[in-house]
Amino acid sequence: MSANIIDGKEISLKIREQVAQKISERKNSGLTIPGLATILVGENPASQTYVRSKHRACEEAGINSFGFTLPADTPQEKLETLIQELNEDERVHGILVQSPLPKGLDEQKALSVLSIKKDVDGFHPVNIGRLAQKGPDPLFVSCTPAGVMVLLNHVLPSLEGKNAVVLGRSNIVGMPVALLLVRANATVTICHSRTHDLPAIAHSADVLVAAIGRAEMVRGDWIKPGAVVIDVGINHIDDKSQKKGYRLVGDVAFDEASDVAGAITPVPGGVGPMTIAMLLQNTLHAAEIS
Ligand code: NDP
Repeated sequence: MSANIIDGKEISLKIREQVAQKISERKNSGLTIPGLATILVGENPASQTYVRSKHRACEEAGINSFGFTLPADTPQEKLETLIQELNEDERVHGILVQSPLPKGLDEQKALSVLSIKKDVDGFHPVNIGRLAQKGPDPLFVSCTPAGVMVLLNHVLPSLEGKNAVVLGRSNIVGMPVALLLVRANATVTICHSRTHDLPAIAHSADVLVAAIGRAEMVRGDWIKPGAVVIDVGINHIDDKSQKKGYRLVGDVAFDEASDVAGAITPVPGGVGPMTIAMLLQNTLHAAEIS
């Protein structure tokens, strides 16, 4: 293995410590304590786990958190009324609607009710639109894409003129990452399920971001020697040698890729831990601009 391992765990811990420090300084200066409200609709076990870990992280950072749990058959209007109430609640600086919402609820419509000043997940259409346009900056950038940029900046302080290839074009990862790379003056190619000859395009990348949700699809020979590889994928694959019966792998075949890349994120321990760290940072920012 020759690649530098980009340690998302360590980088995210430093960010969390910095956020906690700033919040403690706010407290000492008599400023408001940042507050995050989470809205969980239904009983999706993965969503319940994510929300629990977000509350735990808030507690560690000194952020007040308020959890709202609604039944799966909640009508759209009721969800939107709760969001509107939280928009007005002075204790709450950030509002997070845990995705995915149960069938029958319109996520985009719910998000458009949210105050853009409290949109700590960065999914409000105005914040996404600002990311794509010249003009006012978004108030918040969504957490996983923001985390990808922090990891990249760690090894490549300037992305100017670099060829960046993003595999995936989803609203939550691929597209915002591509927009952030354009804003950082990289030359960006976005690939998706209809792209022809993915390996050749990937091989042109100085910076390769994989966010396709396909276990270890990106092979070592797809990677340009010395490239920086950010693997966003989190995939479960069966592994009887593990207690849980599975293990997590990324979208990139790590062992092969790390023989060729200049720097690479592991899975787990790369992008994953960054998401919560960026949520805490966004919640602090929400309190600062309130
Ligand atoms: P989506 O399923 O929403 O999007 C996947 C994207 O990859 C789509 O744009 C799709 O193309 C493209 N794609 C799928 N298969 C192929 C293929 N064979 N060749 C080329 N492109 C393909 O996934 P997400 O963006 O939500 O997530 C991607 C991965 O990142 C997942 O593994 C997920 O678990 C992980 N993730 C990790 C996070 C974290 O670390 N905190 C947070 C969020 C996600 P098309 O648009 O044409 O369908």
